[in-house]
Amino acid sequence: MSSSDPSARASSRVLLLGLDGLGPAFLDAPIVKETMPNLLSLLRESATGELASTLPPYTAPGWTSITTGMRPDRHGVFGFTDRAGRPLTGDRVLTPRVWDFVGASGGRSIVVNVPMTHPPQTIDGVLVSGMPVPPGASFTSPPGLVDELQSDYIVDVPVREEARESARAFELLQRMTEARGRVAARLAREHPWDLFAVVFVLPDRLGHPWWKNLVPGDRQYESRKSQRLRRAAAGCLRALDEAIGGLLAALPPSTAVVTCSDHGFGPLRAEVFFDLVLAREGILDAPRVGRVRRSTIVLGRSRAAAFLPSGARTWAKRKLSAQPSSGGAIRRAWTGPSYQSGVWLGDPSDERLRAHVTDLLLALRDPDGEPVVRAVGAPGVEASVAMGAPDLLCEMVDGSVELHDGLHAATPWVSREDVAWGTHRTEGVVAIRGAVGAAENVDGEAPDITPTILALLGLEVPTLDGRSLVSPTTPLAGLATITRAEAMEPSSVYSDEEEAAVLEHLKSLGYVE
Ligand SMILES: [Zn+2]
Repeated sequence: MSSSDPSARASSRVLLLGLDGLGPAFLDAPIVKETMPNLLSLLRESATGELASTLPPYTAPGWTSITTGMRPDRHGVFGFTDRAGRPLTGDRVLTPRVWDFVGASGGRSIVVNVPMTHPPQTIDGVLVSGMPVPPGASFTSPPGLVDELQSDYIVDVPVREEARESARAFELLQRMTEARGRVAARLAREHPWDLFAVVFVLPDRLGHPWWKNLVPGDRQYESRKSQRLRRAAAGCLRALDEAIGGLLAALPPSTAVVTCSDHGFGPLRAEVFFDLVLAREGILDAPRVGRVRRSTIVLGRSRAAAFLPSGARTWAKRKLSAQPSSGGAIRRAWTGPSYQSGVWLGDPSDERLRAHVTDLLLALRDPDGEPVVRAVGAPGVEASVAMGAPDLLCEMVDGSVELHDGLHAATPWVSREDVAWGTHRTEGVVAIRGAVGAAENVDGEAPDITPTILALLGLEVPTLDGRSLVSPTTPLAGLATITRAEAMEPSSVYSDEEEAAVLEHLKSLGYVE
């Protein structure tokens, strides 16, 4: 399986500590400074830098690039759903993960809660799947491990931007974080391992609904409501900090710690409903925009859909998720789900349509007349294999403006200045403790993390997109590339019920409409 000699591997271990959505702005916020002493001292002892996310800067491609060493056009994951709007399983990742390489060199891994790892892959070690996981589905490998996890272990908590039940949401987020910390520390103590990878999703779950309440920079920050929300969020962040402290205390000596995030976060300024532009051009069929439809816009993203009359809702669903043409309606191009920052073409080989839609994207202007989209690109040629890739991927001028799918807006430009929501930014963070001086800068990109981990373990895979952020002190053992087929069992698909449940969960996170 591998050309490497396991005895050549360095003896040190590596912890990959993943903090979903943690960016420089959040780290600078008073709420983090006041509640996270363990994280801050870990960062002080580490070489730190900025970690550029993937395009799009988004959880599914981000963590997949971090754990494969590849860009999205190689690993094939651009979002949680494919072209037809169906959820992708972790089996859809086209290239091996870092734990496959560790396994191929004779090492063992413990993997906890990395997004896009369901169904649980059989690895040399232990794997607890990260989101999305259909309720009731087995999510550990070996399967019996689930009995070892505490009964209060939760994979994920649905958090809507509108979070009307915020007290309950904070309580669940805190319990989820505490349980994950206990499980991680126990697995780290009780099982042998060379690589331990764990992702905590809390920063992302707090950032989406409450960014402007939690992080200074918006007038909403000073409100009494924000003060109340910050008190509640502080409990969750303390739980995360204690989980980090507990895990660090459980590490064997000489474990290198790689802390990183899949993307950063910042305030959401506006959403651009690009499907309205496509409808205006006759590229996408739309019904007349009535008063009800217009009024939904003030209600916010997820709830807006619920307030549409059911006829219109069914219509919109059919239009935006079914075949390129349903019921004779025109659907030659359509916008991908939020955060995916892309547009699909009914016929990707139609060059005139591609050029026309590209022009429309580049012509988008904010209310000050400034461009919204900086560049439109087609993902790499290999991405045509990966059906999850939007045909036109957009790089936004400003991360605070998002492309949004659907027709439930009166105008394409919808200001979100008045809501507390946050959204993803390209700037994430990376910090490495061990094997590199704390004064050094380790700026990098998401695909650099896998080669960094491998280098810390004394391994090297020359075919990866990323490069190691540390210079090894001992010669690395070259590890032949292993194929996905060697790394994985045959790929699985979800049943209709599981698919519906996963879509419902993604909806609760605002990832699909
Ligand atoms: Zn994320």
